[in-house]
Amino acid sequence: MTLAAPAPVPAAPVPAAPVSVPTAPVPPLAARVRSAGGSPVRDILAVTARPEVINFAGGLPAPELFDAEGIAAAYRAVLAEVPGQALQYATTEGEPALRAALAERTTARGLATEADDLLVTTGSQQALSLLATALLEPGDTVLVEDPCYLAALQAFGLAGARVIAVPGDGDGPDPRALEELVVRERPKLFYTVPTFQNPTGRTMSAARRIAVAEVAGRCGLWIVEDDPYGELRFEGERVPWIAAREGARDRTVLLGSFSKVMAPGLRLGWLRAPAALRRACTVAKQAADLHTPTVNQLAAARYLADRDLDAHVRRVAGAYRERRDAMLAGLADALPAGSRWTRPEGGMFLWVRLPAAYDTAELLPEVVRHDVAYVPGAPFYAGAPDRSTMRLCFVTQTPEEIGEGLRRLGAALLPATAVRATGRGRRGR
Ligand code: PMP
Repeated sequence: MTLAAPAPVPAAPVPAAPVSVPTAPVPPLAARVRSAGGSPVRDILAVTARPEVINFAGGLPAPELFDAEGIAAAYRAVLAEVPGQALQYATTEGEPALRAALAERTTARGLATEADDLLVTTGSQQALSLLATALLEPGDTVLVEDPCYLAALQAFGLAGARVIAVPGDGDGPDPRALEELVVRERPKLFYTVPTFQNPTGRTMSAARRIAVAEVAGRCGLWIVEDDPYGELRFEGERVPWIAAREGARDRTVLLGSFSKVMAPGLRLGWLRAPAALRRACTVAKQAADLHTPTVNQLAAARYLADRDLDAHVRRVAGAYRERRDAMLAGLADALPAGSRWTRPEGGMFLWVRLPAAYDTAELLPEVVRHDVAYVPGAPFYAGAPDRSTMRLCFVTQTPEEIGEGLRRLGAALLPATAVRATGRGRRGR
């Protein structure tokens, strides 16, 4: 056996001549993201990831209701049968098999649609960003509901838009106020979630939808109709899409998503828009991510071909209905006298308004100490916030957990209620 020669002793390092360390600061972040930093509410809600917290704050579909076996079978099939296609780059517009299936589903729901009318997006959230890129110059005006889906406010805000809230009531935005704002502010678009809205759970009436379509027709306005929850109906009659109105078709963009009916981790959404706008969104998408993951698109198309998505959605909606009922049953005991809340016919959220003296953001740390959480309502408002509001998600927990969560919420709010009843301590509003 030969012994290795001893390693040469390295020469002692020669001390480097002192060099000047660069100290000039790097250029700043773009102004559009500088204002979108952290928020105290987000920091508090980060704590709600603790397993002992009953979290009504998230917007998470119930994971035990995912059809994991059916989705796994669809992935196995496409990876076994067309692996080269499933794992390859694809066109920006989306996989033809998925677009065709989506067009068929859209047509069956009353809006005649061809595969070519659709752009597959990476969740419907991406559709919002693409529309912002395609339609908005910095400083352009966007009209939204009051309150409005938070991440839509973020997408329009990042595009530099001036966002203005349209006042409304339980039936949806007020068409007269909408028209006045359109005439005065000359917005590019009106963004709405007409069915089981996030955050309020409200559904825009058929009459309001017609009126909104007429304003858009008369005054010249894009309508962005975001519908991720419409299929999750527990009761009542489906209300036709605004996009299906004669006269609104050439100016309405309809957004859809598999997040709430199949699984959000697939990141599959779609956008139906008139040709010129759809082409502009396709260019924006090319720059954003080239295309939505091919394997996810093919697996979803396979799932739609082999399984009955509508039957699955009926099962999920049945479970969600029980959960909504459990929440409705417990709210009166949990909330202070004078509180009001919505009673959604579907979807995932309901909206609570406590008596005016309460500030739900101020109360949140104490509520989280009781191992329960909600989202304070204020961030959902583009204009003046109603600080007494909160959003509750009723689908993630079982009815028993919902009952327990509401008992904790009641216990957390009780001291605040007592202080108000004796008129001590907290300031009124
Ligand atoms: N729009 C609305 C109204 C939503 O509530 C959500 C998700 N919470 C989205 C769009 C985005 O959904 P996704 O990107 O998962 O399709």
